[in-house]
Amino acid sequence: KFMTSKEIRDTWLHFFRDKGHSIEPSSSLIPMGDKTLLWINAGVAPLKKYFDGSEVPPRPRLTNVQKCIRTNDIDNVGKTARHHTFFEMMGNFSIGDYFKEEAIDFGFELLTSPSYFGFPVEKLYMTYYPDDVVAKNRWLSLGVKEDHLIPLESNFWEIGEGPSGPDTEIYFDRGELFDKRGPELIQNDIENERYIEIWNIVFSQYNAKPGIPRNEYKELPNKNIDTGAGLERFACVIQGTKTNFETDLFLPIIEKTEELSGIKYDGQMAFKVIADHVKTLSMAIADGAILSNEGRGYVLRRLLRRALKYGKKINLNEAFLYRLVPEVVKIMGPFYDSVHKNQAIVEKVIHIEEMKFLETLSSGEKHLDEALEKTTDVLSKEDAFKLYDTFGFPIELTVELSEEKGYQVDIEGFKALLQLQKEQSRASRTKEGSMKQQEKAFIEFREPSVFIGYENYEVSTPVIK
Ligand code: ATP
Ligand code: MG
Ligand code: MG
Ligand code: MG
Repeated sequence: KFMTSKEIRDTWLHFFRDKGHSIEPSSSLIPMGDKTLLWINAGVAPLKKYFDGSEVPPRPRLTNVQKCIRTNDIDNVGKTARHHTFFEMMGNFSIGDYFKEEAIDFGFELLTSPSYFGFPVEKLYMTYYPDDVVAKNRWLSLGVKEDHLIPLESNFWEIGEGPSGPDTEIYFDRGELFDKRGPELIQNDIENERYIEIWNIVFSQYNAKPGIPRNEYKELPNKNIDTGAGLERFACVIQGTKTNFETDLFLPIIEKTEELSGIKYDGQMAFKVIADHVKTLSMAIADGAILSNEGRGYVLRRLLRRALKYGKKINLNEAFLYRLVPEVVKIMGPFYDSVHKNQAIVEKVIHIEEMKFLETLSSGEKHLDEALEKTTDVLSKEDAFKLYDTFGFPIELTVELSEEKGYQVDIEGFKALLQLQKEQSRASRTKEGSMKQQEKAFIEFREPSVFIGYENYEVSTPVIK
């Protein structure tokens, strides 16, 4: 049955609340007190404190819908039906409470019961870790057919030493319209557009020790459940759209982009990339991230520039992203107060950065044209480097525009110059660093002051400013 994204979130949270879970609000996208993470990238990330015992959870059963950013999926955005840089992950968690069989039972009920999502069982496929007979048998006992259960060696979650375990992933079959091939496609991440991975249930049950075979890992005294399900993917299969981008979580942004560009949307990647990136930018800036040249700020800067580049493909040559922010706020504002409250700031930050970058682009393009005029076929490394270093013109654009005009770029030479510059600046940094160090010692150095009488004041230790 049709559901809006709001109904999907509510169905999820209420189902687990009714099963004794406490509803945890979404945390900020910016990790608190976790230096290993640039962004919150999974529902479990802000709950780590409960899993490692450093804080006591309000209840051992939790559920949430968590804002996530995954930049490792950036190249998939707009190419696959299902990847975003920002997405919402719905989850349920057991901290030493229920385990595998109950987690599978909850999953089955929520997905198939007509009171909840009501998916037909025939549309669902589950992968499981080959040794995990308990998981497989549980699915079988609920009525899942043997040929819908797929053993996969990769269904094991492990990051070095510590808690680890098998997982079971649930796929929704969107039918032959998307691909005639059968469930063997599930093992082909790149081509698979038919079976959408909607939910991953992780059974954290072993203590991993590097160097020891998995079947010799010790069982954990407290077993945990950690699950993650993509809201946008649920919306896609429930609303029956071709990709996540035509769901109510993105379509209004795309429609506004149509209006601004005067171009009709027909699945073009540019519309998808723009919708994705402006949402990520809005949500991240609303949570307090800034644009800069390093870390998180650099990620955002790159997303913005990438969105503008795609804008050019659909005739959007002036600042336009900030004009999409109100659409993002209409979609996300009712659930995420930060983006609602900070709309004006978000628009302003994006608008200023857009104008700055477009200015860089147009002056860079002028300089590139001048350089190309005196080029026969390969733009020199010096010219490419000057464009990058002096005019802030991105090298990808130098390559793209040069190629459009029939020139090549000495990209290897460019890389060598870039490397050289990096080494030089590192060397000068350490030199400067050691100078500062000396200066500091110099400033802090004081002769022990010995009172030598007012008369001799003039000859006392020189004071260093
Ligand atoms: P995929 O194989 O499709 O890249 P994944 O196995 O990397 O997904 P998990 O780490 O298992 O994803 O995350 C749990 C769930 O979150 C997935 O089952 C999916 O529904 C959703 N999800 C993961 N990555 C993304 C993304 N980049 N955009 C949207 N949803 C995502
Ligand atoms: Mg992935
Ligand atoms: Mg996967
Ligand atoms: Mg997965």
